[in-house]
Amino acid sequence: MDKDLGPIEKRLARRTRPQDQAAHDLQRIDDALGRMERGCFGYCEACGTQIDLARLTKDPAARCCASCETKTGD
Ligand SMILES: [Zn+2]
Repeated sequence: MDKDLGPIEKRLARRTRPQDQAAHDLQRIDDALGRMERGCFGYCEACGTQIDLARLTKDPAARCCASCETKTGD
């Protein structure tokens, strides 16, 4: 059963396919964890405004505030 990869390993293996949605989501989570380590989690990367709590609750990996997201498309 050594070849039977668990869900996390399967998701990591898919990171080589940028078109894969799971890999994309995982990358966004990695980015969010990096921001937590730097102490800038919850702040918009574009304008520096604190991201709305309701928005972070809905999408904890959000990088931009609502108004900037409409500009960047992320
Ligand atoms: Zn912003």
